[in-house]
Amino acid sequence: MGKELKKIKKRNEIPDELKWDLTKVYKSEKELTAELDEIQNEIKKVDELRRTLAQGSVFLKTALKHYFKIEQKVVKTYVFASMLNDQDTNDKKSQGLFSQVQQMYAKFAAAFSWLEPELLTLSEEKLNSYYENDQELLEYKKYIEDVLARKDHLLSDKEEKVLASASDIFSTPENIFGILNNADLKFPQVTDEKGNIVELSHGLFEKLLESDNREVRKNAFQALYKTYDQFQNTFAAALAVNVHIHNFQANIRNYPDAISAALESNNIPISVYDTLVEKVNDKLSLLHRYIEIRKELLELDSVHMYDLYTPITKLPDQEYNYENSKKIALKALNVFGDDYTHVVKKAFESRWIDVVENVGKRSGAYSSGMFETPPYILLNWQDNLESLFTLVHEMGHSMHSYLSNHNQPYQYSDYSIFVAEIASTTNENILTQYLLDNTDDLEFKASILNHYLDGFKGTVYRQTQFAEFERWIHDQDKAGLPLTSQELNNKYANLNEHYYGPKIVNDPEIALEWSRIPHFYYNFYVYQYATGFAAASALAKKISKEGPKSYLKFLKSGSSELPIEVVKQAGVDMTKPDYLDDAFAVFEQRLNELEGILKKIKIKQNRN
Ligand SMILES: [Zn+2]
Repeated sequence: MGKELKKIKKRNEIPDELKWDLTKVYKSEKELTAELDEIQNEIKKVDELRRTLAQGSVFLKTALKHYFKIEQKVVKTYVFASMLNDQDTNDKKSQGLFSQVQQMYAKFAAAFSWLEPELLTLSEEKLNSYYENDQELLEYKKYIEDVLARKDHLLSDKEEKVLASASDIFSTPENIFGILNNADLKFPQVTDEKGNIVELSHGLFEKLLESDNREVRKNAFQALYKTYDQFQNTFAAALAVNVHIHNFQANIRNYPDAISAALESNNIPISVYDTLVEKVNDKLSLLHRYIEIRKELLELDSVHMYDLYTPITKLPDQEYNYENSKKIALKALNVFGDDYTHVVKKAFESRWIDVVENVGKRSGAYSSGMFETPPYILLNWQDNLESLFTLVHEMGHSMHSYLSNHNQPYQYSDYSIFVAEIASTTNENILTQYLLDNTDDLEFKASILNHYLDGFKGTVYRQTQFAEFERWIHDQDKAGLPLTSQELNNKYANLNEHYYGPKIVNDPEIALEWSRIPHFYYNFYVYQYATGFAAASALAKKISKEGPKSYLKFLKSGSSELPIEVVKQAGVDMTKPDYLDDAFAVFEQRLNELEGILKKIKIKQNRN
């Protein structure tokens, strides 16, 4: 099924009900152009607000109001033009509109670049007297406090200007990595499952690693790393400079280290990171058990690093078309109550979703929108279970946006990256539970459990391993120690052995894995994948036990409080280890369940 080549349709051949309706944002291009003209006029008035903030509460209020009013408009045009562009990236007109809007955004940012520095010159007493004078200003208190929290880490105007003008220099290592990794690197030819000789690529590598033909997996693995091996010195040099830049920036901004700079500027306490690493290390034995099960089921004499991605169980060739999947999604999401599913139905019926692939459409899936628009979803639907999971995932983001937009003022309607993936992965967990609860088909159950366990392994364990490595390279540089490819290889190999344990063959090639991971250039980003997935596992269980009340409160909170406080609304304190214990308990229970089912299936097969 789905094996035969389907011809991709042009956008105008797709029926309207499978396309999003962007006229809800702007009815016509004329309306968009008129909005852009208005923004242009508003930006002209911004300069009058400069150097007024100290003159009284009313001036501060006026400036903030004006800032958020224009921002809201600019974001609206931006979101609209980017979606228009994504639906058909070949469309020249949309390309033009998008670049026009991008320029407007830059103009807006430049026009208000004085706002935060000027805000920082106001004393606490002054601000307190402002709040007393003007209750309306309290609506912006959290925003002002967020800016003030960065006070100790801002430099003089002159220094900030110098740093800003060098920002493109600071991103050079990441650019070099990207060019080397995506353009210059040439991979050798390998044999695919059907015996065809194919040229290896990043995308194909991932596919071949999932192959149930072990030779195919092994050859792809060895061929890929043979290439990385040849360029390890250049990769190491790029990464080392990148790490050095993070440490340099942290140092001049008065942070104790790079991790503090990265986490504190997003208002995340370091205890969140430390607790994660500690707990995952505590629970490595569960990962080792999972690998042992893998070994048994795949009937391997030993598990190699290239045996970790092929599914343990085959998904039944069941068809999940879009119509059916919507029904399943609605039933699964019913745990959130009628108010929630009412909006989900609205998303289905009011064309908030761009469902199928068309020529030129952006690949993948996302949720997008802003305060005044519906929370749209872009999909590239395939009739399979993975697409159903994607739909439910993106719906999690969209419902988070919808509920925050409808319960917060504009300035607090957005939510931080740290909490974003919690809403989407909680939905995936809810779907997992629903599918498990509603089938007696053991093979289907096993494949759902496998899907979950693989997700947990790849997200909680693997991303924490990355996070540990990331911290080590920064510490190493800070201590003035070298980061040559040799050092990086040694550390990575040791860490990998520590994570996967004695049950796996530590193929020497894996020492080079650090060299191909773009996330090591992101500056302490990956740990959030692990915390998000773990929190979602814990939350889904909590919701099915206690109901959705506190969780819905979290979805409505936007950024009205710090990220950690917002998640506390849902009943999870991410500075403490309990939520991780809950998540590992789910992992262990599902591991047991899978083991049990597979034994039963085996007995049945033996009898037949
Ligand atoms: Zn997501």
